[in-house]
Amino acid sequence: MSTRILIVDDVPANTRLLEAKLLAEYYQTATARDGFEALAAAADWHPDLILLDVMMPGMDGFECCRRLKADAATRHIPVVMVTALGQPSERLQGLEAGADDFLTKPVESETLMARVRSLVRLKLLLDEWHARGETARALGLGTDPFATPSVAGTRALVVDDWDVSATVTMDALPKEGIVAVRARDGREAMALTQKESFDLIVVSLTLAGEDSLRLVSALRGGSRTHETPLLLLAEPESRDQLVRGFDLGATDWLTLPVDDNELRARARNQIRRKIYQDRLRSDLGSALEMALIDPMTGLYNQRYLRRHLTGLLESGQGRQLAVLMVDVDFFKKVNDQFGHATGDKALRLIADTLRGNIRVFDTLARYGGEEFVVVMPSADRDDAVQAAERLRSAVEAAEFKCPSGQRIALTVSVGVGCTTDAPTTPEALLQAADTALYAAKAGGRNRVELAAPT
Ligand code: GH3
Ligand code: MG
Ligand code: MG
Repeated sequence: MSTRILIVDDVPANTRLLEAKLLAEYYQTATARDGFEALAAAADWHPDLILLDVMMPGMDGFECCRRLKADAATRHIPVVMVTALGQPSERLQGLEAGADDFLTKPVESETLMARVRSLVRLKLLLDEWHARGETARALGLGTDPFATPSVAGTRALVVDDWDVSATVTMDALPKEGIVAVRARDGREAMALTQKESFDLIVVSLTLAGEDSLRLVSALRGGSRTHETPLLLLAEPESRDQLVRGFDLGATDWLTLPVDDNELRARARNQIRRKIYQDRLRSDLGSALEMALIDPMTGLYNQRYLRRHLTGLLESGQGRQLAVLMVDVDFFKKVNDQFGHATGDKALRLIADTLRGNIRVFDTLARYGGEEFVVVMPSADRDDAVQAAERLRSAVEAAEFKCPSGQRIALTVSVGVGCTTDAPTTPEALLQAADTALYAAKAGGRNRVELAAPT
């Protein structure tokens, strides 16, 4: 997956430094020297993330960020402000301008990469949420516009044994309408998360007598908490611990002493992200379901898929996109040997297996009888082939038994079509994937084939 990062700084040495770090991690980069160039590049080049210097002549970073966030076309692009001073007042000004995160100069590589990974993931999620809303509207199903959800009434767990910082946190969150519950150690926190559900977990990295990272890891592994945003509170000097926390799946952090305003802004952002994610998972409600969901498998139908693909390709989000066409091998035999009802069960199992092996921002549809399609935004050929291979082997490994208990072997063949630099249509992409599927069938089935570039 090639992620685009726009670097905005008036000092060429600074842009070169950041560019070198990002290129080394295989990100695609572009640069802008001031706020005006940045706005133009954001609109034309569709970056996935913007690293924005604060101090620039003409239009400063705050103003540039405000304008990016005021424009519906660029609002969803995460903005990381790069500040020289790292002063709380500056950070607050940035948050009020809509910045998603901060880095202090000189930018340190590991912290940079941890933030970039986390924010790019968020961007993919928001893009997909946005695209699905557009698809529903295009099909004449009124759903809420892309409104910012309220965090009032959501619940946060605060794990902190130190009364001074815990008091600030416990006082700050209710000002946003967030219900805060406190735990004094990891054990208490784990017990609470078993009983109640939370929309945010704040974990102090300075818990006495225990390793906070162990708790972070346990929360990430927990079935009720593995997708809950995790905000870490850390001493300014505990950078290594923070980076490890991020690698374990933490989603944001704050340095001690806790600043009331910054905590509120970050808690808000994190909880909204969870709300988007939950909505994405539960999809777009019952109106959408009736018209666009296949009742047997619960997957989207072909009508939805075509409209969605058209929207992605038209919006520029489809500049890098893969389509997987998945067809069950010798499925007629399953029906002939075991009956239609068992065949239906097998299709449902295959649908569930596919669903369990795609990313949240991929779209899975039942394309026809025993044919499925996966649309993968921001996936290149390697990503797509890897995903196809993962789906193929997951179906092969799935245990399926007919009513008499006999195991029935199920396999699928997969054709992969990808966008290239040339503009394309949904029909051309689906056709390419279908041709590749045909080759996979001809080549012996239970295999993956990649379409030749069109
Ligand atoms: P191939 O490996 O070439 O794809 O062989 P195949 O037998 O899977 O292909 P073919 O297209 O000949 O047959 C598809 C079969 O899928 C025929 C059809 O009865 C069955 N089928 C399609 N939809 C359903 C369904 O909803 N339920 C059941 N039980 N069977 C279905
Ligand atoms: Mg078929
Ligand atoms: Mg088939």
